[in-house]
Amino acid sequence: MIRAMRDVIVAANWKMHTTPAEAGELARSIASRTRVAGVTRVICPPFVSLATVGEALSELDADVGIGAQNVHHELQGAFTGEVSAGMLAGLASWVIIGHSERRRDAGETDELIGRKLGRAVDAGLRPILCVGEQLDEREVGRQDEVVGRQLRGSLGDHDPERLVAAGLVIAYEPVWAIGTGRTASGTDAAAMATVIRQTLAALGFPAGGETLPVLYGGSVTSAAIGEFMAEPSIDGALVGGASLKPDEMAGIVARAGLTAAARGSTE
Ligand code: PEP
Repeated sequence: MIRAMRDVIVAANWKMHTTPAEAGELARSIASRTRVAGVTRVICPPFVSLATVGEALSELDADVGIGAQNVHHELQGAFTGEVSAGMLAGLASWVIIGHSERRRDAGETDELIGRKLGRAVDAGLRPILCVGEQLDEREVGRQDEVVGRQLRGSLGDHDPERLVAAGLVIAYEPVWAIGTGRTASGTDAAAMATVIRQTLAALGFPAGGETLPVLYGGSVTSAAIGEFMAEPSIDGALVGGASLKPDEMAGIVARAGLTAAARGSTE
């Protein structure tokens, strides 16, 4: 019963790809080819293309969410090159927080990610919080500990009820699977979804975290998505490379739609 209440979500992370001139057409193409009942679609273009993508989608009257790929942890100030949550008003309704590429390249810590989460929620943005272990951590069996620590470090200072009300989504993204063409197995991803919900339960989330969608991310393609959507604990995907290809997105969302229908989310 609780499972049927969770959204099935496919979110596209375009990373640092597409110019504003290209982004509108790509968004239109993806939106028109992924109209599937029961699947929440989100496109996260670079900041500079948020407005163009918004205009393209509104012309199409497409029910597709628009997300930013990051947000700053302060409201405003002397932070050259940064974008605050308030600046995203009218441009985005979702935001990716704590992506491993930002943890790696911008040195984002769990504490900082927690502050970003707070800004996002205050601004009414729906957060997709990314967690996941490195290859060497998985090789020695430390994935549960690492993901648990990431969740506690970023969520621990927040009111769980408020995060649930904000529509928090967790994306399990093993770092070794991102952009490598190597995916986790469905079984391993499901095991990590269980770890995530156990951690949420320990943090005091209502219903033991069972109401929060958990996505898998890491080299998802139309060929690979089925393995993850077959797992009852996985509620969709955060897609990087394949999200730049309308054919791939059509296949991914179509497969997610089968799961949504089977779970009764379309009713
Ligand atoms: C991502 O950017 O979150 C991601 C999972 O990338 P990719 O699908 O390319 O591995």
